[in-house]
Amino acid sequence: MAMFARTKPAPTVSGGYSAFKSAVRSDFNSTCAYCLITELFAAGRENFELDHFFPVSKFPLKELDFYNLYYACHPCNNIKRAQWPDDQLTNQGIGFVDLCTDDFTTHFRELPDGSWEGLTPSARYTIEALRLNRHHLQEIRLLLRRLQ
Ligand SMILES: [Zn+2]
Repeated sequence: MAMFARTKPAPTVSGGYSAFKSAVRSDFNSTCAYCLITELFAAGRENFELDHFFPVSKFPLKELDFYNLYYACHPCNNIKRAQWPDDQLTNQGIGFVDLCTDDFTTHFRELPDGSWEGLTPSARYTIEALRLNRHHLQEIRLLLRRLQ
């Protein structure tokens, strides 16, 4: 099951894409779409941004598309920037795992040290491209496990 469900129909706002921020935040439950850390454990709301899943530099028509806007912590958004799989990877069906449509456990498994193991080529691509095993993320995952 996908982790995030998007509001349908898309809300209407006036202004640029940033006007969608509160609606996107709600769809992603105040959680980073990539590392899955919540605002509480990632320096709060001001550390979160809107990411264009399909980078605007390569997909300019998607700039104002509500469904292309993902809630992301600043480090993930900053690392992702305009990264996108090249044609060779795309032709093999490899790209960023999209937790609005993809099931987490199909792609990732959390290991005892708090790192994520990629179970699919797309998951391995995503982990590497977004550095999803950053030391801080592993520490947070271990902390959350202890709290449960
Ligand atoms: Zn993140």
